[in-house]
Amino acid sequence: MVRISIPTLPAAPLVAPSGLSILPLPQAASHLAKFLENGKGKTVMLTGAGVSVDSGIRAYRGEKGTYSNPNYKPILYHELVENSDRGDMFRRRYWARSFLGYPPVRDAQPNPTHIYIAALQHLGLAPKLITQNVDNLHRKAFSLLSPKYKQSSILELHGTLAKVHCLKHRHEQPRDTYQEDIANLNPVWNEESKEAERTGRRPRTNPDGDVELHGVDYRSFTVPPCRLCEEEKEDASMVKPNVVFFGETIAPAVRDESLNLITSSSSLLILGTSLATYSAFRLVKLAIEHKKPVLMITTGPTRADPFVGKGLEKMDRIAGEVLGKYLDEAVKTSTGQEVEDVKKYLHTGIVKRPPEVEGPRAEG
Ligand SMILES: [Zn+2]
Repeated sequence: MVRISIPTLPAAPLVAPSGLSILPLPQAASHLAKFLENGKGKTVMLTGAGVSVDSGIRAYRGEKGTYSNPNYKPILYHELVENSDRGDMFRRRYWARSFLGYPPVRDAQPNPTHIYIAALQHLGLAPKLITQNVDNLHRKAFSLLSPKYKQSSILELHGTLAKVHCLKHRHEQPRDTYQEDIANLNPVWNEESKEAERTGRRPRTNPDGDVELHGVDYRSFTVPPCRLCEEEKEDASMVKPNVVFFGETIAPAVRDESLNLITSSSSLLILGTSLATYSAFRLVKLAIEHKKPVLMITTGPTRADPFVGKGLEKMDRIAGEVLGKYLDEAVKTSTGQEVEDVKKYLHTGIVKRPPEVEGPRAEG
């Protein structure tokens, strides 16, 4: 019996804001500098939806830890894979919405915070990154900035939207080829998608690359089977994006790697996340149990707030502002090829926020 829970956050912070949050920006940046220096190049970073909001990708949760879109119910894993007519309808609905919702995620560009985080990696200050985001933006930023970019520098805790796989044979393929298969089988839907691209009137995209549609009959949508099964003349299998759904467990290899990254680190820097998912929260708990210094820079309440003052320092600030200030100063006084690479890209991030996000930034 699987128990499904969709994580939510307490309505109010459980602890008083720490003094760190009211430091002027330069002092906040110096605090980060000291934290990274003490980490001696073995600091691990952990990021969440808050860092992607400036790229037009919406956080699940707003300022007070509630869903920023109260009507949004993500599809659950068991619904997506259910072998029944009901499951079939869930899959049609999921892939129809995802077909329209994916292009904005595919086309999103790294914002300044992604560039700063990639800079910390490239400079060797915090070479390893664990992210809860599935939008591929950390990889885009790091590969832009670093000729030495390695796939293994970034662990995507909840997978990536850039790939899909089939359930029976685990054939993996780029999402773009599956997107083509969908387009070929669904010419009417494809016209709809092109129209949205042309007019810029794209439906509201949720962070997992899904859109909300109203009054639509999903029976008109055909879900293509895995093309690799067909090529290898095996039983055609259903395809799933390489992302962890609500109600799905993380692959043991990914979980173990995330735990290893924490135990072999010197300290943990948390950026732009409310840590609402257990898979991320558990890493913070582990760091604290192992007495690793933890610095969290994010806005609003988080699930780790009870650890403030007990091994965890919290700066209730927009992570990108502190990182940007720190790096601006750091590159002035440093030399070397890596520093030159960073200088070249430091201010190339693109800010393109979702139209509905107003006022203070929401973090995921
Ligand atoms: Zn297959």
